[in-house]
Amino acid sequence: MAIQGGCQCGAIRYEITGDLMGSGVCHCRQCQYSTGGGPNSVALAPKSGFVVTKGQPKHYARKGGSGGEVNQVFCGDCGSPLWSEGVFPFYPVKAGSLDDPSLLEPAIHLWTSEAQPWHRIEPGRPAFPENPPAP
Ligand SMILES: [Zn+2]
Ligand SMILES: [Zn+2]
Repeated sequence: MAIQGGCQCGAIRYEITGDLMGSGVCHCRQCQYSTGGGPNSVALAPKSGFVVTKGQPKHYARKGGSGGEVNQVFCGDCGSPLWSEGVFPFYPVKAGSLDDPSLLEPAIHLWTSEAQPWHRIEPGRPAFPENPPAP
């Protein structure tokens, strides 16, 4: 079953047809701009199993934590952050843009070195100061 999602105003729609490659919560400073301050909860959609079905999202290019360029993808009409595109074989898709965000069970915490003191880190969940080591 494909997972559907899109932005708040409906101008951008996407579909995840591949199996999710993981999930996580990113605490990095850059993500805090996308979320409004809180940690960034993402589902990892395989690049080969992700398709935009409606609209033309906007991109904002920035430097990623590992030095490569990261494109933050968002709706130019309503401003919803949607996913990012970088060197990884997956797109981290923002949980809040899924039609059913309750699907997401974040598995790990990353970039905890940049977490705010008031970010909650679930006890017992793997946590990494920066990106997790490559699988
Ligand atoms: Zn929108
Ligand atoms: Zn981040």
